[in-house]
Amino acid sequence: MSDSLPLSYWLATGPSLDTPATLPDRAQVVVLGGGVFGVSAALFLARAGADVLVLEERRLAGGATGRNAGIVAPGTTQSYLTLGETAGWDTARQVWQFTEDSAALLKRVLAEEGVEAEQRVEGAYSVTMTPAEVETQKRTIERLARDGFALTWLERHALQGHVGLPLPPAFLGARFNPRGMILHSARIVLGLAQAAQGYGAQIRQGVHVLRVRDGLVETNQGAVQADHVVLATNAYTGSLVPALASVIVPTRGQMRSTAPLPQRVFRGSWSANEGGEYWQQTLDGSWVLGGMRRRAADAEVGYLADDLNATVQGALDAFVAQHFPDLASAPVSHRWAGSMGFTPDQRPLIGPLGPGLWILAGCSGHGMPFATEAGRQVASWICQGQPDRAMAPFDPQRFLPG
Ligand SMILES: Cc1cc2nc3c(=O)[nH]c(=O)nc-3n(C[C@H](O)[C@H](O)[C@H](O)COP(=O)(O)OP(=O)(O)OC[C@H]3O[C@@H](n4cnc5c(N)ncnc54)[C@H](O)[C@@H]3O)c2cc1C
Repeated sequence: MSDSLPLSYWLATGPSLDTPATLPDRAQVVVLGGGVFGVSAALFLARAGADVLVLEERRLAGGATGRNAGIVAPGTTQSYLTLGETAGWDTARQVWQFTEDSAALLKRVLAEEGVEAEQRVEGAYSVTMTPAEVETQKRTIERLARDGFALTWLERHALQGHVGLPLPPAFLGARFNPRGMILHSARIVLGLAQAAQGYGAQIRQGVHVLRVRDGLVETNQGAVQADHVVLATNAYTGSLVPALASVIVPTRGQMRSTAPLPQRVFRGSWSANEGGEYWQQTLDGSWVLGGMRRRAADAEVGYLADDLNATVQGALDAFVAQHFPDLASAPVSHRWAGSMGFTPDQRPLIGPLGPGLWILAGCSGHGMPFATEAGRQVASWICQGQPDRAMAPFDPQRFLPG
């Protein structure tokens, strides 16, 4: 992994944190990975009084978190209908509820800790472009309402009122979740990390973890003994736990952002093509857009290097030209890529892997609305001996032999 690759908008515009160079010999809990999952777990562990050390190979937010779209949209990764039909409606409801609770908790924690990460609860729009998609989204909203989740349908004429330019002709309407949040992806990680430091957590950057054996965390800079080790290493987990190499599959995503637009075009988060494309306009007016992975799917799966894919970047430009011609001449200020970790059922692994070994990983491209509650649950498990909600949908053992 290298930091010399193109910087994301977030890493280029966010602050960085100075942390000490030397490692302690031991810590009660060592969290591997300084993305949103690692710092969320560290915060709740430190709040509960645990002696916590976070080890990050790059800088904080250097992985997927600082390279994503900054969208915290409650909901499942697979469509709700597909999840319900394949895994059962109880599981679907539990997963959706988990993300709603997690997004609400994130909002509360940011307020409690005084974290400023450009967070705005402005809703999440899922745009439809075909009559079949319209029907599916309407059925989804009905099913969600039955299961206790209030989302609304916006017809095309109503949707026009939510966007600051003529609505693209292909946009037929949208599902709207008013609880969706957007934020600055690097600021959130730094803010949560600093909050954790406030409760005594220690953080080290530039430390590559080589191996974990019986609570001994071996790194390129020495070893640390721990009672508990938490893997928050996302797409990179397979190198530390070979049994998970085929379970959490690295999958690369591509993004671009423009220089600040002169007007506010978008509020909240937007997605189209069933989540294939997604975007938000940041507080300074920049337009951050990602997706189009399907144009080079083979090249993007199993890939851990965060370098650019010209085919996918070109497809993002074409998406802009086709649907937002008025914005096509806005200068592109940043182009970047990041690696996600996909699991076979597109649900994360959250919980115990073995004695003193825990995992929070594999959010399959949709980790932001899981991270806060996942961190709280793992902290509760470690500090109180159990989680305080049903965690069966995320049981890591579902993919491990015997
Ligand atoms: C292009 C793109 C767009 C996305 N957009 C969104 C979005 O808008 N909304 C959403 O919900 N999700 C989105 N996602 C997915 C989301 O970013 C992830 O689900 C989430 O950030 C995962 O957080 P994490 O902490 O598990 O992983 P990461 O942020 O990847 O953190 C893992 C960290 O572990 C470190 N690490 C790994 N191995 C080691 C080691 N051996 N030693 C030390 N450190 C190590 C890595 O350097 C990394 O910083 C997107 C992802 C990408 C790539």
